[in-house]
Amino acid sequence: MIIAIDGPAAAGKGTLARRLADHFDLALLDTGLLYRAVGMNLVRAGADPDDAAKAAEAARNLKPEDLEAGDLRDDAAADAASRVSAVPDVRAALLDFQRSFAAEPPGGTRGAVLDGRDIGTVVCPDAESKLFVTASPEVRAERRYLELRERGLDAIHGRVLADMKERDARDSERTVSPLEPAKDAFLLDTSDLDADQVFAAALDFINGNN
Ligand code: C5P
Repeated sequence: MIIAIDGPAAAGKGTLARRLADHFDLALLDTGLLYRAVGMNLVRAGADPDDAAKAAEAARNLKPEDLEAGDLRDDAAADAASRVSAVPDVRAALLDFQRSFAAEPPGGTRGAVLDGRDIGTVVCPDAESKLFVTASPEVRAERRYLELRERGLDAIHGRVLADMKERDARDSERTVSPLEPAKDAFLLDTSDLDADQVFAAALDFINGNN
């Protein structure tokens, strides 16, 4: 059983993915972490995340322990991730890892939930259930702003919204694997829904599929 969840930042993918993985007892892969780790490996080495050759090398050399770095949730990592993710060789290097995870989930579970930007379109086009989770940029920026404040970080609302729109544009306009719903994806707009309502709507769709 493979559940593919795609959508822009702060739309509610991560929370939904975790709840679905718990509910169906599936392994969970947050694929954004892979791109964040590649981006931060470059930043930490003093390299430019827009340097395609270095980014591809960093992706090929990515190690499981790199995914444990404490700074991968920060905005600097999100920015670096959205730059390296536009490089075709970076995406190719990370594809095998993601497909193997889906084909043979760790822990011997009967399947996996993967969340990202191109899971339903490229990584797992044969997934039984595909969801495209979205929300308005204003709602997503507000969620992100509150999350940053909760973590004790300084955040300026207008800046968070501007960064979000910039990252959306980079993810949607790149030529390789742009952010877009798969043709058979269930579109779930979470702008006016809380986490329980999002989970219930997703469950209805998935149960109708299986
Ligand atoms: O989901 P998250 O915000 O952690 O992703 C960070 C960045 O990594 C995204 O903005 C996107 O550029 C990239 N990404 C991607 N494909 C994925 C997952 C993430 O291009 N499957």
